Order: sequence, then C-alpha cells, then structure tokens
Amino acid sequence: HGVPGTSKERTFIAVKPDGVQRGLVSDIIGRFERRGYKLVGLKLLVPSKALANEHYADLSSKPFFKGLVDYMTNGKAPVVGMVWEGPSVIKQGRVMLGATDPRAAGPGTIRGDYCLSIGRNICHGSDSAESAEKEINLWFGGKGEIVNWASNNEEWV
Ligand code: ADP
Ligand code: MG
Repeated sequence: HGVPGTSKERTFIAVKPDGVQRGLVSDIIGRFERRGYKLVGLKLLVPSKALANEHYADLSSKPFFKGLVDYMTNGKAPVVGMVWEGPSVIKQGRVMLGATDPRAAGPGTIRGDYCLSIGRNICHGSDSAESAEKEINLWFGGKGEIVNWASNNEEWV
C-alpha cells in the first residue's frame, strides 16, 4: 500500500474550510468514489498552526503564506482530510481538482465547477509522490488512522 506507480498508490486530498462551509464535502468525496478510487483515511479537524505551517512549508516565503495558514486554521470551518488509493491517484487527483487558480481550471474539475478565487479554492491534493508521502504522514500519523480494505474496483465483468 502507498507505493507510487502501483494500483495501491495513495494521495492526500483535503476539503479546505471554504469547501466545508459551502457544503461541498459530499460532492468532492463522491467524485473520487465514483471514479473508482478507494477511501482509506478520513478525518474532520481544525488543523493547528504547526500542522498548517508544515503542510505548506514549501510556500513559507510567499506573500500569501500567513493568510493561507490563517484561512486553514482559524476555525471558522474545519478541514476534511482524506487519503485516497488507486491507480495514478496522485496525478489524477490533481486533474480532478483542476488548476490552482480557479480562473484557469477547466469545467468538470472541482475548482472549475465551484470557485473563482485562488485564495479560496476549496480543495487540496498532493502534487507528487514525495508530497503525498509527507502529507499522509503529517495528517494521518496516528496508529490505525489509515485502513487497508478490499474493494472490487478492478474486478468488473
Ligand atoms: P495547489 O493547492 O494547487 O497545490 P500551491 O501549492 O501552489 O497550489 O499553493 C497552495 C495554496 O496556496 C493554493 O491552493 C491556494 O490556496 C494558495 N495560493 C497559491 N497561490 C496563491 C496566491 N497567489 N494568492 C493567494 N493564495 C494562493
Ligand atoms: Mg501545492
């Protein structure tokens, strides 16, 4: 499990606070479920500053970093953190989210269907195998928080 390039590849997907506030959790989960990906981790939380700082550590020099961390952690709405598993889920998860700037996101993508502001783009997805490993360990560090279970998604008639 969790090995990039296999059918058990895993990625970290989150619904950010604006997505939760707007009632888009079920839609976002539904898109991954219907695509055939398997949900192996799921939690609702207001992330700590430490968690958000580490999650976005690569962006710490950006002018929007402080606002980004505040948006994620201020508790006005929580974050839904998820681990999804399946073939090419890292790359396809990003495709399903759409471009970072929603004004460039295509129709049919989550961002392309539901938002317009880069600062309120409702969802997150790991951008590489390295990021996926880091983010899964960061958000789902506890024992038993990720569940290995068998789905039949590769055994249709
Ligand atoms: P992505 O979330 O698509 O991986 P990045 O890793 O580049 O995008 O940025 C992380 C998050 O930071 C974005 O999803 C967005 O919420 C925020 N962000 C990125 N660029 C800007 C910007 N120019 N202004 C405000 N927020 C931004
Ligand atoms: Mg990113």
